[in-house]
Amino acid sequence: MKQYFSFQWHITDECDQRCRHCYIFSGDACKKLDSMSWAQMEDTFYNCLDFCEVYGRLPYFYLTGGDPILHPDFWRLLALFKERGVPFTIMGNPFHFY
Ligand code: SF4
Repeated sequence: MKQYFSFQWHITDECDQRCRHCYIFSGDACKKLDSMSWAQMEDTFYNCLDFCEVYGRLPYFYLTGGDPILHPDFWRLLALFKERGVPFTIMGNPFHFY
């Protein structure tokens, strides 16, 4: 059985929390928050799958940010994971699930 290769994937800086320890908000408080475009996300996703194919591994993703749930294409990305049968874990904060 192939072993997993895991990717920790930061898809957005967006987050509506402001934890004191957070590296995103610790420096320049006026920094423009970045997010990946859908084209960049698709490109990254398929590059990761290609990498795993070449090295004989199964892909596993940890989705993070910021709060990845706030990315406008978050659910579209989950649909892509489901379509390709790729397992993942969400490493956001649970604020928007309440
Ligand atoms: S990204 Fe995480 S650590 Fe940073 S402010 Fe948001 S919830 Fe807090």
